[in-house]
Amino acid sequence: MQIITNIQLKQISAKDSYVVLHPLLRMLRVDQIKEFLRTHLRRHALQNDKNTMKVILILLLFCQATFAQVNTIQLLGIDESHLVEQDNYKLTQQTAKAFAAMQAAALYDGIAIQLVSAHRSFERQQGIWERKFKQYTADGMTGKQAITKILEYSTIPGTSRHHWGTDIDITDANAPKQNSLLVTEKFDDNGPFAPLHKWMQANAHRFGFVLVYTNDEKRTGFAYEPWHYSYLPEAKSYLTAYSSREAFAFFKSVGVVGSNYVNRDFWDAYYTRFVKGINPELIDN
Ligand SMILES: [Zn+2]
Repeated sequence: MQIITNIQLKQISAKDSYVVLHPLLRMLRVDQIKEFLRTHLRRHALQNDKNTMKVILILLLFCQATFAQVNTIQLLGIDESHLVEQDNYKLTQQTAKAFAAMQAAALYDGIAIQLVSAHRSFERQQGIWERKFKQYTADGMTGKQAITKILEYSTIPGTSRHHWGTDIDITDANAPKQNSLLVTEKFDDNGPFAPLHKWMQANAHRFGFVLVYTNDEKRTGFAYEPWHYSYLPEAKSYLTAYSSREAFAFFKSVGVVGSNYVNRDFWDAYYTRFVKGINPELIDN
């Protein structure tokens, strides 16, 4: 307990504090952590000290983490200690293995599957969100309008499947050089990525990968993304383990720009429409 209280909590960011505290927390019993939280909450909760609140929240989330396959801190993109490097991107070990096998099989058929995105941290998603929010509101939109516009293509930080390490965006390195890659039309009919798309439709399942944002008219949320695949054996259980309530609490606690426009009702509607607006194969019933 002494070790933790000696750390200058105010001077470290949410991410750093987790790295610092994580091995220490492993040495503590749950009742010791609870006692620390009780004292610390009394001392700091009423002060407007965002860093301290962040640290406390991460500690709380950690307390709830079990020995399950994945924990909340990993699902929110705060911790990436469970990920491995694959072609300069980060994936879970199982996803990386399955991806490498699929990549080898595709290459045999003349398709060079190339990762263009995999794991993305909460901080990076926060950066994307805040840049867009500031730009749209500077252009004259209200906060609410700006958020609606952001949600055409980007997720609320803490809710991206890219936080998990099970989801990938891919193109074909054998296609002629393209200026912009992730454009829907490039994946259909005679587009440069049509061979990749056809190959994936026929083979991705064999390796555990499925399209997340399908072109099914009944699907809600994000637009059709023919480049975004998810490693089903892990991602399905990750979604089950994902807690919308904890994600909302963390999102509100870190002071993301524009988060004052996102209340609990908005969040719940967003969760149903967007986070759950995916290929039903990826949802545990
Ligand atoms: Zn994606």
